[in-house]
Amino acid sequence: MGEIQVGDKVIRFDRSLTKIAYSAVPVGDAERCGCLYCLNFAAQRSSAYPSDFISLLQKIGIDPDKEGEVYEVGPDGDRRIYGGWFYFAGEVAKAGERNSTFANLEFWFVDATRLPKPAGDFGDKVAAVEFITGLPWVLSDQPEP
Ligand SMILES: [Zn+2]
Repeated sequence: MGEIQVGDKVIRFDRSLTKIAYSAVPVGDAERCGCLYCLNFAAQRSSAYPSDFISLLQKIGIDPDKEGEVYEVGPDGDRRIYGGWFYFAGEVAKAGERNSTFANLEFWFVDATRLPKPAGDFGDKVAAVEFITGLPWVLSDQPEP
């Protein structure tokens, strides 16, 4: 198990098991759902995350294209707030007291026992990186007001 400290948080993770699990997951949650909000997320996924966040995901063995869940929270000025999470094989050793941030993205770690069962097989100990961020609306189709 590898270990990473981010701010006041410490996680332990199994990178190879996580990578194997992601290789069996066909698509991210946004494609699986396919609603307009998710399609708007998927359309800009490659630019949705700060590079430091992508580096962190890759260090853990997470495929940044395959979020376990993504959901739209509502508008915030000219942006929309999105939340979601990524599963990984491992555990939260220290949850810490406040969210960490990279640019306008906030993230934290949780034990995944209370989350829905992941699409891949992450073994007995499953945790997740949860995030919240703001993204523009980039589709020509607009959501219902
Ligand atoms: Zn959706």
